Amino acid sequence: MSVRVVARIRPLLKAEIEKDIIVHAEKTASATDKDSATIVRIPNPKNHGENFSFNFNSVYDQSATQAHIFDNEVSSTVKHLFKGFDVTIFAYGVTGTGKTHTMRGGKSLAERGVIPRLLSGIYRRARKAEKDSSGESTVEVSMSYFEIYNDKVFDLFEPPEKRTPAGLPIRDNQQGKAVVVGLTERPCTSLKEFEGLYDHANINRSTSATKLNAHSSRSHAILCVKISQTTGDQTRVSTVSAIDLAGSEDNRRTDNNKERLVESAAINKSLFVLAQCVEAISKGQARIPYRESKMTRILSLGQNKAHTVMVLNIAPVKSYHLDTLSSLNFANRTKKIETNEIENQPFYRDIPGKSKLDGPAMTSIAPTSALNRQ
Ligand code: ADP
Ligand code: MG
Repeated sequence: MSVRVVARIRPLLKAEIEKDIIVHAEKTASATDKDSATIVRIPNPKNHGENFSFNFNSVYDQSATQAHIFDNEVSSTVKHLFKGFDVTIFAYGVTGTGKTHTMRGGKSLAERGVIPRLLSGIYRRARKAEKDSSGESTVEVSMSYFEIYNDKVFDLFEPPEKRTPAGLPIRDNQQGKAVVVGLTERPCTSLKEFEGLYDHANINRSTSATKLNAHSSRSHAILCVKISQTTGDQTRVSTVSAIDLAGSEDNRRTDNNKERLVESAAINKSLFVLAQCVEAISKGQARIPYRESKMTRILSLGQNKAHTVMVLNIAPVKSYHLDTLSSLNFANRTKKIETNEIENQPFYRDIPGKSKLDGPAMTSIAPTSALNRQ
């Protein structure tokens, strides 16, 4: 199964209304009324009379609502999660193109992004599973949330002043999966509880002003939600990782000062390694350079991820033209990745009286080498 890649072209912002939309969503010639757009059309910056077309699984334009994106692209992953498969959803794009809007969204019900909608879906399904089993099965949800900033891992449940400058270490666990050592894992029993923890943790996320966007985020934010389904003495754990990547822009455009340049170098390196991993996977190469950045080590695209959805966020205007093209080229390679369907096996808890949350490590989201596979 390959990575599902969907492009989302955001609307013009208030400050942009004078500008022309140069990026368009289109249907293929053979598409019927019911089919959605699958093509992004963008002018060749060297020759505006000519257009480039990029094909994706679906393409959404400014008319797509938050509900559309979730219902069409993400809601079905809840079912897979409950069947024991891991899920990864990530937003890629230049700062200011709508990654955070897509993943987190706004406060109102209609503006809620993929993450709160996903959690809502998880709790709904959990309650139903418990009810259908007449109390035989229980579903527990817990979360961890961390960011990778300058190639260091920081727990977003820790306030910035409590951070150790070196960040948290990553180690491979016994299953060969990369885990963040010392990460907080919080149980959350309801959507309301989740939202309280999530909002609070978001305040701890590193943000700093750049010329492109006053609140641009220079870090990768990685939310892991673990669901543990227990029936009798068997528990099956699966994890959904929702990732809001740092901006993919070329930092030569952003008038960086020294601090920004250090950040940009780290961001560009991790996204560059991500691109190299994507390239290596799409070419079927044996060696994938996952370990060359923390973000790719944790994301480990195409390794143990049964279901991966990448949302490519795009701004419709000319000022983003070159960066948009590089995002489109990146995404074009990503969609060729094949992911392995690995079902998380139930494990038996044989330690009576231990908390139900004592399962495999929380961040079970990284490399499973061929040797470790069953
Ligand atoms: P990023 O996280 O990629 O830097 P943001 O999510 O912060 O970008 O979006 C930049 C701005 O554009 C924000 O003001 C956001 O509210 C707005 N925006 C992005 N996508 C949409 C959308 N689909 N509809 C309405 N506003 C959007
Ligand atoms: Mg953002």
